[in-house]
Amino acid sequence: MKIIHTVAEWRMIQKEFNLSSENIGFVPTMGNLHAGHQSLLQRSQQENTVTVLSIFVNPTQFNNTDDLAKYPRTMEQDYQLATDSGVDFIFAPTYSEMYADNYRYQVCENELSHLLEGMHRPGHFSGMLTMVMKLLQLIKPTRAYFGEKDFQQLQLIKEMVSAFFIDTEIIACPTMRDKNGLAMSSRNNRLTEQQYQLALNFPRLLRMQLPLPEIIDRLTNLGFTVDYIEEFQGRRFGAVSVGDVRLIDNFLIAN
Ligand code: AMP
Repeated sequence: MKIIHTVAEWRMIQKEFNLSSENIGFVPTMGNLHAGHQSLLQRSQQENTVTVLSIFVNPTQFNNTDDLAKYPRTMEQDYQLATDSGVDFIFAPTYSEMYADNYRYQVCENELSHLLEGMHRPGHFSGMLTMVMKLLQLIKPTRAYFGEKDFQQLQLIKEMVSAFFIDTEIIACPTMRDKNGLAMSSRNNRLTEQQYQLALNFPRLLRMQLPLPEIIDRLTNLGFTVDYIEEFQGRRFGAVSVGDVRLIDNFLIAN
């Protein structure tokens, strides 16, 4: 496994390994890898000859500076997990490598990105889409893998790739949950044991066949701060905070 930190190094690797003639599977992440990320890496390895993992905590998609500062960074542990998962290349650039333009150029979507997460995290989706666009242009993957846990993100990326004629297939992967049903997330590491026990009520209540205001009331009474519980295009979406840890989840609504 090779770890690459600069764009110039990556371009050299592309030539050296003749990557344009390979099927490249790409898994973009912000690190602090867990079984959710691992499932994407496994799928990539099954379907491609080369797997590239990127690790970059992208500041432009954080609307909250405290959330950015507290985002878990565990590089050594991530390198180990990537090695064990059979990753071929890790692309782990710095801010200045990715934003030589200082974020003067941005990808903006003007409908879906203002709903749900977008309503509560201004600028989040522009930051995310800009970063994914940069990474797709650089890595030039045959397929790129994204989790349904971030369903709105997945939808926006699929539509961006179509709108800009990008030659990468976007593959949706199911949400991985821990044994108690909580969707795996790097932010879960910041929950205390007591907060974790409370957090387990979120996926449980989100799934309940109750009117949405009732779900919001129950979550609020338990001590969650609720950003939204909404149904949209056949799915139920939710975002809550436990203390200062924000959690999101979504389910397909049974017909
Ligand atoms: P992140 O590092 O949180 O930005 O996530 C990187 C990728 O992993 C995104 O495509 C996420 O949707 C995906 N991912 C994160 N958590 C999970 C999970 N619990 N199950 C499946 N995919 C996930």
